[in-house]
Amino acid sequence: MDISTVRKSFGATEVLKGVSLSVPPGGVTVIVGPSGSGKSTLLRTINHLEKVDGGYITIDGRLVGYQVRGTKLHELREKDILQQRTDIGMVFQNFNLFPHLTALENVAEAPLVALRPGDPRRRTTAEVRARALELLDRVSLKDRADAYPRQLSGGQQQRVAIARALALDPKILLFDEPTSALDPELVNEVLDVIRELATSGTTLIIVTHEMGFARDVADTVVFMDQGQIVESGTPQDIFTNPREERTRSFFSKVI
Ligand code: ATP
Ligand code: MG
Repeated sequence: MDISTVRKSFGATEVLKGVSLSVPPGGVTVIVGPSGSGKSTLLRTINHLEKVDGGYITIDGRLVGYQVRGTKLHELREKDILQQRTDIGMVFQNFNLFPHLTALENVAEAPLVALRPGDPRRRTTAEVRARALELLDRVSLKDRADAYPRQLSGGQQQRVAIARALALDPKILLFDEPTSALDPELVNEVLDVIRELATSGTTLIIVTHEMGFARDVADTVVFMDQGQIVESGTPQDIFTNPREERTRSFFSKVI
């Protein structure tokens, strides 16, 4: 995935000031930075939940949210945007499970409703349910398949949300502070699931304040401040030998 000079403003405030980032397939990129630096906004541009004002994003060479006609970019139609989003899984801070669906139904929802006729990923209901059960097993929740979200702990709900995000075999999985709404004792069960995914070859982009986890799991750490990428590099580069004073000053406060 390539992010190229992406700009985004809300009203008069420029929140992304020309952000460029290349994410190799299969890698784990962790984005860190102070509150308000634009991390969530950047993640949301990747699946076109936020429209960019300038620059562009490509996944496997395809523009996100737009197509080129003549010399201009035109926004895709809503159904094409939805189609494109089936390649991009997202896990939110507050889980966002469908409250009226069981864990299994939450995981099965997208494969049953989001794929167009003719999409090679379409399966029968029985196949989708069997695969949903496999995914729940992968996050160690097979035995809670029939539970509703309100009957699950925060950590369990977040693991269901991860299984749900995997259900369409996304090319990229985005995590926006997946553990920050959790009680401390539930954080690790979720981080362990993400650790396992990190070794599985799915491209992961993770916004987190869990610096120990970031150090363990990241191939690349990106430090953002005030709508810009200040620097990026290996965990060693960024945590131990940052080049920029802003990075050093941030980590001296949070680690
Ligand atoms: P945090 O660590 O607190 O989650 P963040 O790095 O994710 O912060 P963003 O949520 O991307 O930061 O917000 C960046 C800036 O954009 C903030 O000043 C925020 O108030 C502003 N902002 C974000 N979304 C909107 C919106 N929909 N309308 C107006 N301003 C917004
Ligand atoms: Mg945020």
